[in-house]
Amino acid sequence: MTNKSTLSLVVPVFNEADSITPFINKVKSVFSSQPDIGLEIIFINDGSSDQTLENLIEEQTLLPIIKIIDLSRNFGKEAAITAGLEQSKGDAVVVIDVDLQDPPELILPMLEKWQEGFEVVLACRSNRESDSWLKRASANGFYWVHNLLSNPKIPANVGDFRLMDRVVVEALKQLPETHRFMKGLFSWVGFNSTVIHYSRPKREFGVSKFNGWKLWNFALEGLTSFSTDPLRIWTYIGLFVSLSSFLFAVFIAIRVVVSGVDVPGYASIMVAVTFLGGLQLIGIGVLGEYMGRTYIESKRRPNYIIRKIFDVKN
Ligand code: UDP
Ligand code: MG
Repeated sequence: MTNKSTLSLVVPVFNEADSITPFINKVKSVFSSQPDIGLEIIFINDGSSDQTLENLIEEQTLLPIIKIIDLSRNFGKEAAITAGLEQSKGDAVVVIDVDLQDPPELILPMLEKWQEGFEVVLACRSNRESDSWLKRASANGFYWVHNLLSNPKIPANVGDFRLMDRVVVEALKQLPETHRFMKGLFSWVGFNSTVIHYSRPKREFGVSKFNGWKLWNFALEGLTSFSTDPLRIWTYIGLFVSLSSFLFAVFIAIRVVVSGVDVPGYASIMVAVTFLGGLQLIGIGVLGEYMGRTYIESKRRPNYIIRKIFDVKN
C-alpha cells in the first residue's frame, strides 16, 4: 500500500441503530493492521426514524473519520448510495451494507485486486444459504430474465458490495438519471472488473428492509431501466396473434364451403375475446410502465435532499 492511498466506505443506513456500533468496531479491527490507508467512513442516514442518527453522531465524536450525510427522508438505498458516492473523496470507494452481511474483512483482498490494476472489484455470493428458498429462486429468475433482455448484463449474485476506483465513481456521478438501478449502472459504466467470492452471512442485528413487493418493484425498475424489449415484444405478439387469426379465418371459410355453416361457437368466441382482451391490457400496462418512468424522469428532480452533513474534519 502506498502512503497516499485513501479509501472511502459508503454505508447507507435506514433504521439501523443496533448495527452501527458493531459495524464500526469491525471496520476498526480490520483496518487496525493497515495504518497506511487513509480511511473515511461515509454513513448516509436514509431517513431513519430510530436512534440511528444519534448513534452515528456519538460514534463520530470518538472516530472523526466518520462523515454523516443526513437525508431529509427515506429516499431508498439506491439514492443513498448515490449521495455517498457523490460525497466520497477516496482513491478507491467501497459500497457496503451496515448489517455485516457484507463482511468488512473482505475489503483487504479487494484492495489487493485494486492494486493489481482492476478498477472494479465485485464481491460475489458463492452461496446464498442465508436467504430463503423463495428469495434465491426469485433472485435467479430475476438475473435470468434481466440478462436475457438487457444490455449490458449484470453479474448474478453480486450485490452493491464492491470496490471502485475513483475513475469509476466519477463516471457514475456523470449519469443524470432519476431512476437509479445501481447494479445496472455499475455494469453500464464498464471498466476492468474482477470478482472475489464469499459466503454471505445472516444479518446480525435488525431486520431486512426489503420485502417481496419492494424486490418485485426493484426488479421492474432494473428491467425497464435497461431494456426496451418488453415494449417491442408487443409488435411480435400482435403479428403472431393476427397471423393465427387469419389462418383460423381461412380454416373456417374452407370448413363452411366443405361442410356448411357451423352455428355453435360460443366457447371459441369467448376464448378469443378474453384472451385478446387480456393481451391488450398487458400491452397497455407495459406501455404505462415505461410512460410513467419517462414522466418521472422528465421532471428532473434530484435523487435525494440532504438535511445536513456532519463532518468534523472540515
Ligand atoms: N437501506 C437504506 N435505505 C433503504 C433500505 C435499506 O439505506 O430504504 C440500507 C440498510 O440500512 C442496509 C442496506 O441498505 O445497510 C441493505 O439493506 P438490507 O440489509 O435490509 O437488505 P438485504 O441485505 O436484506 O438485501
Ligand atoms: Mg442485509
